[in-house]
Amino acid sequence: MQPESRVVFVLIDGARPDVLQFLLDRGLLPNLARWVIEPGGLTVGTTVFPSTTGVAYIPFLFGCYPGTANIPGIRWLDRAEAAGGARAQWRAARSYCGVQGGWINTDIACGPSMFDLVPDSIAICTPVTRGLGPGANLVTTERAILGSVAHYVGTYPSLDRAVADAWLSTLNRAWRFLFVVFPGPDGMTHLKDPWHPAVLETYLEIDAALGRFVARARRQGGAMPAFFVAADHGASVMQEHCDVAVLLEEWGVPTLRHPMHVWRRGARAATMVSGNASVQLYFDPRAGRATPRTEREIPEDLVARLLALPAVRLAACRDNRDGVIVLSGDARARVSETGGLVRYEPLRGDPLGLGGRLQLEDRDMLAQSRGTDVPDAPRQLLQLFRSPRAGDLVLTAGPGADFRGPWEIPEHKSGHGSLIRDHMEVPIAASVPLPEVPIRTVDLMPAMLEHLGVPVPAGLDGVPFSRLAGVPSSLA
Ligand SMILES: [Zn+2]
Repeated sequence: MQPESRVVFVLIDGARPDVLQFLLDRGLLPNLARWVIEPGGLTVGTTVFPSTTGVAYIPFLFGCYPGTANIPGIRWLDRAEAAGGARAQWRAARSYCGVQGGWINTDIACGPSMFDLVPDSIAICTPVTRGLGPGANLVTTERAILGSVAHYVGTYPSLDRAVADAWLSTLNRAWRFLFVVFPGPDGMTHLKDPWHPAVLETYLEIDAALGRFVARARRQGGAMPAFFVAADHGASVMQEHCDVAVLLEEWGVPTLRHPMHVWRRGARAATMVSGNASVQLYFDPRAGRATPRTEREIPEDLVARLLALPAVRLAACRDNRDGVIVLSGDARARVSETGGLVRYEPLRGDPLGLGGRLQLEDRDMLAQSRGTDVPDAPRQLLQLFRSPRAGDLVLTAGPGADFRGPWEIPEHKSGHGSLIRDHMEVPIAASVPLPEVPIRTVDLMPAMLEHLGVPVPAGLDGVPFSRLAGVPSSLA
């Protein structure tokens, strides 16, 4: 343990591992290569479901899945409040994409955060701020102003430049943990595609910012902090915007939805989109019933129609025990967990493509599922439905599709949010050795705490590197 060690976490929002590798192979990310990967390593890890900004930051700062934090998506419905008056109805239709954005900090139902555990923390450009001390939250104004403008006109490079400048300025202050968020790659990807030159340029700028930070830190002398670099989700090009809310309305089901219909009269369903490639549905949202519905309480005909949509890769819901039912076309399986073992029981076909019945330890199931088109799906579906706020039914999109109409301004030419590989796989680099087993983004918080010599709290979903196979014994 190194009591005086420091950690810098760099979050490259929406960075794809293959894009990062492409740039590394061409020598275009020299600082990431020299100061992070060379002393440590780079691997492809997996994020959480829904694979979307904000929600997928929770693992880095709390070491927990969104389901454990009771944040099932970037949008979700408060079932009890949805039955109230106009003000309550607006509050109940939670969306962290707009003015309710800051509510994520009070909605998160787990803790402590990295910022609580490491009081000398500074964060730059993050929506998740719980536990930060006074003056420790930087680039808030730019995030509010440039971020909302960037959303419409694509000025993300200016926002990333503000982040880079603030990052450099932290070298004039004392800190032990630095949380640095670059929103540019994700923002530009939505407007273009993951391989567009304007997107690649954002990676290069972030690498240059790392270079400037390291150069100045070296001039100052002293030990270099450890670097952890990761993305919160991937992205893929969208060819089809399959707006489930609009379809439900066409099918005669009045549907509560964002942004204009959170007061929908006589709503029989609510759709809460994350990413935009996943959507959670809540049935009879004005009933005031606080508990989620299980499979037998969900309208069968609607589920069948939704499953028949070409955009849908799979649907999932709770069964009447403590398992999750997974549906894909005609295929059907049950996922459950007992005594630390994750069980996958195909009931018809093989919706997760795991090849048959399996009962494995968590990390082995992760490894097994990494070979499928929906990496870590068993664990991710279990963790999502751990949240009582999660919808009655969740739909995840297949490649090339999302669940919000082309009416969205600006149109999402690319997106994320689903369980598919392109959205779930993320680069994870660190200047310390990485385990040889598959890792998840949720493992990084305990790993960083270990490096800081701060005791890892009990009850985390993530596992510190020292307890994973393949780490040099000096760290274990
Ligand atoms: Zn995004």
